[in-house]
Amino acid sequence: MLSIPCPYCGPRDVTEFSYGGDGNVRPPTGPDAASEAAWSAYVYLRANPRGVHEELWQHSAGCRRWIRVTRNTLTHEMHGSAPARASAAAS
Ligand SMILES: [Zn+2]
Repeated sequence: MLSIPCPYCGPRDVTEFSYGGDGNVRPPTGPDAASEAAWSAYVYLRANPRGVHEELWQHSAGCRRWIRVTRNTLTHEMHGSAPARASAAAS
């Protein structure tokens, strides 16, 4: 059974989590912020990477906090997790 390492609760079954999408997508800023094309890309365009990838997950059946999980999309191996807010502030 696949488990996700919640930084607050420890390893928990994947069924306790809700997928929140790509962890590297940011809203447009600067001169592109008013561009319809930039917002369309932000809302609709997603990469479909094969390999190690950062994702946002919510521990919806646990502490309900958002976390940033590093996962291999090919093998589903978990490489770690961190609070989503701390990672966002650091980048
Ligand atoms: Zn948790």
